[in-house]
Amino acid sequence: MYDFQFEPCQLPDDTQALRAEVREFLKENLEGFPAVKKAATWQGFDSEFTRKIGERGWIGMTWPKKYGGHERSALDRYVVLEEMLAAGAPVAAHWIGDRQTGPLLLRYGTEEQRQEFMPAIARGEGYYCIGMSEPDSGSDLASMRTKAERVDGGWVINGSKLWTTHAHRCNQMVALIRTNPDPDSKHTGLSQFLLDMDIEGIDPRPIRDLSGSEHFNEVVFKDVYVPTERLVGEEGQGWQQVMAELAFERSGPERYLSSFLLLRELVKEVDPSDGTARRLVGRCIAHMATLRLMSLSVAGMLNEGKAPALEASVVKDLGTSFEQELPELVHDLLGIEPDPDGDTDLAQVLSYLTQVAPSFSLRGGTREILRGIIARGLGLR
Ligand SMILES: Cc1cc2nc3c(=O)[nH]c(=O)nc-3n(C[C@H](O)[C@H](O)[C@H](O)COP(=O)(O)OP(=O)(O)OC[C@H]3O[C@@H](n4cnc5c(N)ncnc54)[C@H](O)[C@@H]3O)c2cc1C
Repeated sequence: MYDFQFEPCQLPDDTQALRAEVREFLKENLEGFPAVKKAATWQGFDSEFTRKIGERGWIGMTWPKKYGGHERSALDRYVVLEEMLAAGAPVAAHWIGDRQTGPLLLRYGTEEQRQEFMPAIARGEGYYCIGMSEPDSGSDLASMRTKAERVDGGWVINGSKLWTTHAHRCNQMVALIRTNPDPDSKHTGLSQFLLDMDIEGIDPRPIRDLSGSEHFNEVVFKDVYVPTERLVGEEGQGWQQVMAELAFERSGPERYLSSFLLLRELVKEVDPSDGTARRLVGRCIAHMATLRLMSLSVAGMLNEGKAPALEASVVKDLGTSFEQELPELVHDLLGIEPDPDGDTDLAQVLSYLTQVAPSFSLRGGTREILRGIIARGLGLR
């Protein structure tokens, strides 16, 4: 039976000083930013804001200096992310490059790829999307069919990806493609490529979500030529590489802070003499504080080079359940209808989060899939 470890993690004093510095920066730079935009935080794409963060040295914080990084600790990075999300900063432009692409290239990329792509990400000028899911291949990702055929000097790709966040705004996609179909095993013969989003034959088509915004896409590939130098890692090892990449996706503060802005607006508006409201706010804050300690514990273990994959899955599952429950609880308490044109920030934020909350337990692996991973780790399946 797996023995869950959530060791307490104490942040060092200089990390606390960094927190104050980030807070000061955000106070200045988010002045006048509407609450409902803040609620979008890691969906908010703002390349100018991202460039400012890059100038401060808060992207690629843990990477080697020779690739544009800053050689700081994972806990420093954690504190910066936590402050950005709690304040509602628009971080989507650098989010994927910082969280996934940089670490992927450090682990599997060639020296040329690291030198070419990582410094631009760290400066806040390289915007990346993830091309994994496809029509008919979401949870069962290994069933994906987009394929690449070998030609002189590279490959030609045909097929399509689905739900690719910000594909229409990014410079690059890291795409998982079938290079060598094997009828006996769907997990073999997959490879990862770095694709310029402006090359001929790539067509991102934005999809409007319930809230009316267009952040994810269908991306169609028609005879897209990609040179050999854009293969990431080893041909045919894409599945193993992607599984390592997903581990970066599941434990961060984004997994419990997506509805934080709603809690802030609630605390501002609620009548402190209302006992029911006080109990609800107290319960939510206690819940969030516990999730934060669990998430921080995972960050501490990652910082020590451990691989707490199951603990990370537990944090994501509990965190996204909490994030999803919050709009419902606020609606029940106040009886106000979510209204995008509502005359209070609370009504607008409630409206936005009510519409996007169902996605919280889908993105990055669905609730059922995560619970399957946890059950397997516990030896139950
Ligand atoms: C906001 C958002 C952003 C996204 N961004 C990206 C992105 O940038 N790049 C990218 O590649 N993908 C992205 N995705 C796609 C996301 O990874 C998929 O939606 C997710 O993997 C689920 O796949 P699906 O939508 O095909 O649902 P399905 O896999 O069809 O699942 C439908 C339902 O069936 C359940 N289910 C499926 N299989 C099982 C099983 N074996 N056992 C039990 N239950 C099961 C699921 O839990 C789910 O509830 C994004 C999704 C969202 C919502």
